[in-house]
Amino acid sequence: MTSSILVLGAGMVGTCTALHLQQRGFDVTLVDRRAPGQETSMGNAGLIQREAVEPYAFPREPGFLLDVVLGRGAQVHWHARGLWQMAGALLRYLHHSHPRRHALATAAYSRLIAHATMEHAPLIAAAGAQDVVSREGFRFVFRTAQAFDQAAQRAEDLHTHFGVRSQAENTAQLAQAEPALQKPLAGAVHWLDPWAVHDPGALVQRYADLFAARGGRWLTGDAASLQVQGAGWSVHTTEGRVQAQQAVLALGPWSDGLIRTLGYRFPLFIKRGYHQHYTPPMQVRQPMLDAERGFVLAPMQRGLRLTTGAEFAPIDAPPTPVQLAKTDAMARELLDLGQPLPEPPWLGARPCTADMLPVMGAAPRHPGLWFNFGHAHQGFTLGPVAGRLLAEMVSGEPPCVDPTPYSPRRFG
Ligand SMILES: Cc1cc2nc3c(=O)[nH]c(=O)nc-3n(C[C@H](O)[C@H](O)[C@H](O)COP(=O)(O)OP(=O)(O)OC[C@H]3O[C@@H](n4cnc5c(N)ncnc54)[C@H](O)[C@@H]3O)c2cc1C
Repeated sequence: MTSSILVLGAGMVGTCTALHLQQRGFDVTLVDRRAPGQETSMGNAGLIQREAVEPYAFPREPGFLLDVVLGRGAQVHWHARGLWQMAGALLRYLHHSHPRRHALATAAYSRLIAHATMEHAPLIAAAGAQDVVSREGFRFVFRTAQAFDQAAQRAEDLHTHFGVRSQAENTAQLAQAEPALQKPLAGAVHWLDPWAVHDPGALVQRYADLFAARGGRWLTGDAASLQVQGAGWSVHTTEGRVQAQQAVLALGPWSDGLIRTLGYRFPLFIKRGYHQHYTPPMQVRQPMLDAERGFVLAPMQRGLRLTTGAEFAPIDAPPTPVQLAKTDAMARELLDLGQPLPEPPWLGARPCTADMLPVMGAAPRHPGLWFNFGHAHQGFTLGPVAGRLLAEMVSGEPPCVDPTPYSPRRFG
């Protein structure tokens, strides 16, 4: 008999989970309150980050932290209420960011990241989505020679330890590669393995279309209505209550709210981020991270997308796009941004965990319920491998990556 399963959340992670479960013969219903890929998986920088083998650690440099406290710089912004709400998880994040523990997290994270492009590739091909993907890498650009030299050395280390390929570019090489840059920069590390998606929401929608074309069911519904029903689970949708034997929770930054109602207290927190589109007279060719200022410029179908660093604020607090205003001025030091599109800044939230590893596996105290969330800065990258790994666990197949470090049981 076909086994039925609900997947709650149709971001990159939930949609890929639905596809992989379907591929293994499950009768899958994908449920979201919005259309697929309309939230965090839409507003990001669109990078499939094969180079991101190290999860984002809590910064420890005293000068940087002083800037954050005093509200200087653009990389971090905070609301007092956000810091207060997330204090417990942030302290544990600081603890896990100790270099020794961060190295352990990197070992587990890099095993997932190694699958980044490899797992997207067959989905992109099957979904006919080649037109929104470019495979020419992206750059970290540097304003000072000291930062550039350190990063070039670090890139060599990452190649030695993780096989990540890059090329160091000096001032002239960078200027030639990116003629839109108006200011001579110290140099760039050009990561050669990552891919760039010019419309991240469209890629999720194409994956969801593939799921539907293969017979999957997508419904509008509210995950908050999830309840145990008989030996399975049910959720309320616009087509009435839908029941299945099992359920997967893939609600990205909203996962914490739902698992709390089930009695779980995991050290989860969010890092909000903004984007704004521009119409520069001359487009950047590949995405670039201004590594010393902490913003990304990514060419998108809608224009040049500027994305910001982390804002520690409650998920439902009104937008405070302070970082966008600062990075707008910083980006204009590099190139002619042109005018912002007449639209309000986009606001989203990276779903983070204190130990920097996603939460993937069986819910500790609820039979038939599975978790797949907490992919932080790289959920768009990791969606396909996260979907595959979860589907392998549900179906009892040998997993492509040892899932132990990501088990929900580590948080109780
Ligand atoms: C500024 C910024 C830049 C980023 N850049 C990158 C990048 O370049 N590369 C990268 O890999 N990652 C990037 N990220 C991170 C990445 O976007 C996220 O990790 C990823 O999108 C998370 O995917 P998800 O499917 O878990 O969550 P989401 O995409 O948020 O999906 C969760 C889904 O759950 C649904 N939902 C929530 N509550 C309910 C409910 N009650 N009922 C029904 N449905 C519900 C939502 O509608 C949503 O569709 C960036 C993030 C930000 C903020």
